[in-house]
Amino acid sequence: MAILDYVKEAVRKRNPNDTEFLQATDEVLMSLEKVAEKHPEYVENGIFDRIIEPERQIMFRVPWVDDHGKVQVNRGYRVEFNSAIGPYKGGLRFHPSVNLSIIKFLGFEQCFKNSLTGLPMGGGKGGSDFDPKGKSDGEIMRFCQSFMTELYRHIGPNTDVPAGDIGVGGREIGYLYGQYKRIRNEFTGVLTGKGLNWGGSLARKEATGYGLCYFTEAMLNDKGNSFKGKKVVISGSGNVAIYAAEKATQLGATVIAMSDSNGYIVDNEGIDLDLVKEIKEVKRGRIKEYVDTRTSAVYTEGCKNIWNTPCDIALPCATQNELDEASAKTLVGNGVIAVCEGANMPCTPEAIEIFQSNHVLYAPGKASNAGGVATSGLEMSQNSLRMSWTFEEVDQKLKTIMENIYHTIAKTAKAYDMEDDFMAGANIAGFEKIAVAMMEQGIV
Ligand code: NDP
Repeated sequence: MAILDYVKEAVRKRNPNDTEFLQATDEVLMSLEKVAEKHPEYVENGIFDRIIEPERQIMFRVPWVDDHGKVQVNRGYRVEFNSAIGPYKGGLRFHPSVNLSIIKFLGFEQCFKNSLTGLPMGGGKGGSDFDPKGKSDGEIMRFCQSFMTELYRHIGPNTDVPAGDIGVGGREIGYLYGQYKRIRNEFTGVLTGKGLNWGGSLARKEATGYGLCYFTEAMLNDKGNSFKGKKVVISGSGNVAIYAAEKATQLGATVIAMSDSNGYIVDNEGIDLDLVKEIKEVKRGRIKEYVDTRTSAVYTEGCKNIWNTPCDIALPCATQNELDEASAKTLVGNGVIAVCEGANMPCTPEAIEIFQSNHVLYAPGKASNAGGVATSGLEMSQNSLRMSWTFEEVDQKLKTIMENIYHTIAKTAKAYDMEDDFMAGANIAGFEKIAVAMMEQGIV
């Protein structure tokens, strides 16, 4: 029997229906088995028991009025998971699929990710089952104002600092911030991802996608390889996907496929990113509109089959569990060399197993997509200092952080006799820093 089986059992008993949360905790606890062996004091002090239970879970009603004068009600969430190494930090997701299990899995992952950045940030996550698609700006604003009217009492620049995630970009952060400021009558760095002339950081918008590529390049370089001349497939066409495509292209790769939740495009001449930005960022349209302008491209209905497109590097940047065992087998059959997660938990456990057993370089999101929150941390620093750094300064810090993350997790995996198991390396390295802080702070 494994040492941490009792913790797995306790999580299952307490969260019987929370599929995504259990998937995330199982993966982490499996990686931590060797840490438990080496550090019996962590078991004695209930570190594992405590780390899988959020410090606080908030659920609330979000009433708002649509453009037809009809009252709508959504559910809001904020899970404040762990504050051992800093204020809770993590995004807000607005998507109809949002439920407590998804927010808990994201909050749990966030703790380890934030720890890996080396910055003083605890973990949290929030959101709502609100669907921003097809809503007018007025509806989005009224929803955000109502959401913040409850959330404001739980957050603060030294307590909990939310940011964006799926369905929450610059527009939503603006409306949320405006309402916070109005209620609290203070101008503070309570959210990140803010507009550039009211406290936002240059390069925050690009950070997750750029960071993903900096991480991937560091990993490839370590193995004597690089992005140069590679074919890349990227799922999604949102914030993370677009800027991953931009940086991969700058590093010499050709991005040949992207998607949204309806379908995917393949453009063997290389994706025209200006066109994607115009469709997704300006018009808030659908990816299929791409083929109206680019006749070299082909659109296929249904997003899952994007992984049938042969490529050297796959960057899943849409959502959890979007890449399953069958897709992983196809990618391996087509000769993929690296799979790095831009989204949170996009690969199923079975897919990860396929990659690892076939010696495909696999990087978990908590390491490879940490660039977004790292730059949010840099935004917090700039807010505290009341200073703004240049794009180049922030970008350089981001690059250094991502390279450090790669080397830290690679070194940790090796130290635990699991060379090239970057999942284990990330889980262990992220955990160790939190565990030490929790030990030093007593039973809280
Ligand atoms: P966006 O809302 O900007 O874009 C999400 C993209 O993924 C869209 O193309 C969307 O398509 C697609 N998508 C969303 N849900 C699904 C689904 N159920 N099935 C298929 N496709 C889907 O979000 P982000 O780019 O910000 O986030 C993408 C991922 O990256 C998420 O997992 C998020 O947690 C993670 N992440 C984001 C960070 C950030 O800084 N933004 C930081 C770290 C991780 P459609 O438009 O059709 O909905």
